[in-house]
Amino acid sequence: MAQRVQGTEDLFGGYMRAWQHMQDTAREVFGAYGFDLIETPAIEQVATFVHGIGESTDVVRKEMFRVYSGALVDQLLQKGSEEGLKAKQRLALRPEGTAGVVRAAVQNNFVPQGGAPVKLWYAGPMFRGERPQKGRLRQFHQVGVEWLGAPDPASDAECIIMLMRYFERLGFAPESLKLAINSMGDASCRPAYRRKVREFILEHAEEMCDDCLERAEINPLRAFDCKNAHCREVMAGAPLAPNNLCDECAEHYAQVKRYLDEAGVSYVEDPTLVRGLDYYTRTVFEVEVEGAGVGAIGGGGRYDGLMELEGGKPTPGLGFAVGFERIALALQAQGVNLAGDEPECVYVACTPDVRPAVFGVTLALREAGIRTEADYQGRSLKSQFKQANKLGAHVCVVLGPDEVAAGVATLRNMSTHEQEQVPLDELVARLS
Ligand code: AMP
Repeated sequence: MAQRVQGTEDLFGGYMRAWQHMQDTAREVFGAYGFDLIETPAIEQVATFVHGIGESTDVVRKEMFRVYSGALVDQLLQKGSEEGLKAKQRLALRPEGTAGVVRAAVQNNFVPQGGAPVKLWYAGPMFRGERPQKGRLRQFHQVGVEWLGAPDPASDAECIIMLMRYFERLGFAPESLKLAINSMGDASCRPAYRRKVREFILEHAEEMCDDCLERAEINPLRAFDCKNAHCREVMAGAPLAPNNLCDECAEHYAQVKRYLDEAGVSYVEDPTLVRGLDYYTRTVFEVEVEGAGVGAIGGGGRYDGLMELEGGKPTPGLGFAVGFERIALALQAQGVNLAGDEPECVYVACTPDVRPAVFGVTLALREAGIRTEADYQGRSLKSQFKQANKLGAHVCVVLGPDEVAAGVATLRNMSTHEQEQVPLDELVARLS
């Protein structure tokens, strides 16, 4: 039997309804804030991710699924390296959504010079070659937003508020949500801060893991996020970003917090919060669920330099992404059924002799948008009722020779078993 790839899942039944519900809720909540849906391709040129996410990140260095097609595969096998391939031949499955949306914004000129900000949301599968475990998959699903062209700290605050409202609408107990925020500075203050952190790591070299020593040279801030608990303990004593902000970044951060306070959104300041991708500037945030044990369910931040890295004009931007699978696990732990109830349906049951007469009845109900099931296996009336119960039908439309002759149908309420007769030409109106 063919097997699913490890770290991937089939979405069906209640799990599929849960994923759809997450998207429907996103459309409602984000729509009220003025966001429109966008869909970008699941494959992009590697360069899109390298420029956007950063060469030094784990996502790009170790976790990206590369894509080669047809003749390229043979060529690669012969040469043993990508060298000589054109940019358009070096493809990858998207590990996250932001780089692709920003690429689309540059390519389609979504934010013309002096143009109004653009607000977009997306939903779809992302791919990372990670070691599969609970809440960590190789193909997982994200819902995310990108807001391009808005430098004002009110937009950072609104983005965070919208995210928290989204989680509440999905059914999380508000007090279980732990929102952490930080500011990582910008192009004017971060380089000096990075140098300080690098020096700190090198001063504590004997206590840090090899990965962190490598990070010291390529991306020292990532040491705050090391998987090794001892490294994180050491890093708790490192210089902290909020103490190393330039005046503009400090003022921006203060205003974001002021707006959050005004909206009554509670948060903790975590001066060691650094997000995994290189593109973040100033505000970063992450949300965890107390006691869920699945890690962060969502996070994001500001990325004022990203449009330029993707070849566009300097344009501020910010956004976040949340993970469907982790949210489903965390909500399940809180006893919330993200899938909702199975859809209601009507079952048309009949005796074999009137089957042809039933064909049109079933069709008419469906044309009216009523989810309708019927028997296609020649079952007895009794087993048709059984089947109707299994499918969760609320009502059975029962037709036998007497009903057909009289131009009526018997409606059977499947929970009370009460029956009544309805003229066939009133059936659709009655069940609508
Ligand atoms: P990130 O882009 O890494 O900040 O991820 C944003 C959100 O996507 C996380 O908070 C998770 O909910 C989810 N996520 C990231 N990586 C994975 C993964 N490998 N498996 C499942 N969910 C993930």
